[in-house]
Amino acid sequence: MDLEQETYDVGLVGGGLAGLALSILLARSGYRVALFEKEKYPFHKVCGEYISFESWNFLEDLGIPLSDWNLPVIRRLLVSAPNGNHLEQDLPLGGFGLSRYRLDAFLAELAKKAGVVFFEQTRVNDVVREGNSFNIHHAAGLSYAKIVCGTFGKRSNLDVKWKRENHQAKKSKLDNYVGVKYHILADQPEDLIVLHNFQNGYCGLSQIEDGKHCLCYLTSADNLAKCGNSIAQMESDILRKNPFIDKIFTTANFIFRNPVTISQISFAKKDQVGNHILFVGDAAGMITPLCGNGMSMALHGAKIAFDCMLPYLQGKLSREQMEAGYSRQWHKIFAVRLRTGRVIQRFFGDETFSNILIGTVKPFPRFFSFLVRKTHGGAF
Ligand SMILES: Cc1cc2nc3c(=O)[nH]c(=O)nc-3n(C[C@H](O)[C@H](O)[C@H](O)COP(=O)(O)OP(=O)(O)OC[C@H]3O[C@@H](n4cnc5c(N)ncnc54)[C@H](O)[C@@H]3O)c2cc1C
Repeated sequence: MDLEQETYDVGLVGGGLAGLALSILLARSGYRVALFEKEKYPFHKVCGEYISFESWNFLEDLGIPLSDWNLPVIRRLLVSAPNGNHLEQDLPLGGFGLSRYRLDAFLAELAKKAGVVFFEQTRVNDVVREGNSFNIHHAAGLSYAKIVCGTFGKRSNLDVKWKRENHQAKKSKLDNYVGVKYHILADQPEDLIVLHNFQNGYCGLSQIEDGKHCLCYLTSADNLAKCGNSIAQMESDILRKNPFIDKIFTTANFIFRNPVTISQISFAKKDQVGNHILFVGDAAGMITPLCGNGMSMALHGAKIAFDCMLPYLQGKLSREQMEAGYSRQWHKIFAVRLRTGRVIQRFFGDETFSNILIGTVKPFPRFFSFLVRKTHGGAF
């Protein structure tokens, strides 16, 4: 049968961590899954590439041989303020470093082996419900599925098309961010992740595979506009005022000639189900990157969605029950983390406040551990 004309059990729009993990779980349970990804694997993605240990077992269970990959294990965090004041702490849970280039491509291979049908370099332009199934309009034509999940990440053409921002609270400081990533060779211990603040942003650095480091920062779109929309200008005028960042830019060897970038990132609240489509991963709600936990949440979200979809696919639940169950579980597990992340994000964006904050929190390591725990969960 023509792969486009077939009615799939599940159509997944977006092949990042949420879409790939969910596709593997569904295909291994015997369901026909179509995954649409606008890029072609392998590809780079803006991400700090620090994965909290909550995901280790889940990723190994999916078939990623993490233990054999000799990845850097990260146990310590150094946070600096724009004025150079800094604190260093052990991380309560810790994590490991792995590039998205390698992780996503490996998961895609596992998904293909499990029987997932891939539509790569295929952007989805709309999804329309008809009766009890969905028409998926994409760059290569039209496909059909009984369930559709929006696993399209932090920002997609579909957010705009479906006016998903309309229901959000009024425009706020949480609305318009830009992310920038490089791979570099830097002189930094393997077990350390650093988070350096600068005016209206922060920059993370930690090791990934093969001795490389991921340098990734988030800043407001206003910051970039102030520098004539030039990333180089912004780095030299704003980021490098923090002496730690200046040292990295002076001494490191940049592997990418040009950085990978993403714009229009928002941390505002989103809905988890809309027009009977389940949103999973960043599409359901994005935690601020300084929490270092978005990837684990996307993977955990895939597991929750799978657990809620299975009884529906087996005919044991109605669609409405599946949707309500998913929303309920999502809120139970993630709502507090996202709220805490939003509060921290507001403080870290402010130069004066982050200078004061680092100085104030420094003598109270327990408070710092408390914040980390509030934004993380356990293994799933
Ligand atoms: C600056 C920055 C730093 C970060 N650092 C970290 C970190 O160190 N640790 C951490 O755990 N998390 C971090 N995160 C968060 C993490 O990257 C995300 O939470 C995670 O990638 C979410 O996975 P996802 O599958 O939901 O979305 P994504 O990984 O973004 O995948 C979505 C996919 O959908 C595709 N897509 C979009 N629209 C369409 C369409 N219409 N049709 C077809 N395909 C489409 C995209 O190409 C993409 O591949 C960071 C985020 C940012 C912005």
